[in-house]
Amino acid sequence: MARTVLVTGGNRGIGLAIAEAFVAQGDQVAVTHRGSEAPAGTFGVTCDVTDPAAVDAAFKTVEGELGPVEVLIANAGVTDDTLLMRMSEDQFTRVVDTNLTGAWRCAKRAATRMVRGRWGRMVFISSVVGLYGSPGQVNYAASKAGLVGMARSITRELGSRNITANVVAPGFIDTEMTAALPPERQEEYKKATPAGRFAAPAEVAGVVTWLASDAAGYITGAVIPVDGGLGMGH
Ligand code: NDP
Repeated sequence: MARTVLVTGGNRGIGLAIAEAFVAQGDQVAVTHRGSEAPAGTFGVTCDVTDPAAVDAAFKTVEGELGPVEVLIANAGVTDDTLLMRMSEDQFTRVVDTNLTGAWRCAKRAATRMVRGRWGRMVFISSVVGLYGSPGQVNYAASKAGLVGMARSITRELGSRNITANVVAPGFIDTEMTAALPPERQEEYKKATPAGRFAAPAEVAGVVTWLASDAAGYITGAVIPVDGGLGMGH
């Protein structure tokens, strides 16, 4: 059955692969972007997830065009790395406002219509470092760990309404975010990953579409690693 899907940050990287995977299976897909083009076959809305009014406007536009959002993929995210003792107030709050509060704004906005429709899927794109930790990423890891508590609380609030809320925790995926890492760090991370390589964005997308499917209806409050074994035991 075709669903209405909203992917935040669906214009590039992992979000783009997720949007393409939903389009390929015949869903109606909306993506948020901040000024770039929307991918082919998707309905694009401009939205900065740090702006509550923009989030509300994006949902209104999508609802008007495609109907209520039944599947929310909270994917938009940023890094701003530096060591704890050098991290500014702004570096911390900006990353948390985008990665965690931005996801909360979208989940809150999506929930009302999901409850009314008695069906919904929320998937939060976290990171292996949320539970594993990462030097230089106190802000990012805190925001990604926060998504776990959020998804699990949403599960406890809305689980009986046929709404699931899960977290996908990718390891290192080939996107602009990882391309920005110094080459020697990239090699270190590959060595630390049992799979010995970074993943393609499509390998995350496959897990996300599965979590949004009817087949995964009894999976909720879960953290699904897609990390080549990097975070085993976390
Ligand atoms: P990219 O940097 O390639 O893309 C980030 C996306 O988020 C872009 O679409 C960007 O939009 C959007 N975005 C950033 N800030 C905002 C904002 N304030 N409002 C709306 N959209 C915003 O990242 P990836 O594709 O690599 O990452 C996607 C998600 O996966 C992120 O949450 C990231 O933390 C997570 N992740 C990535 C990993 C990796 O190895 N790549 C590993 C683990 C997790 P715009 O184009 O307008 O900038």
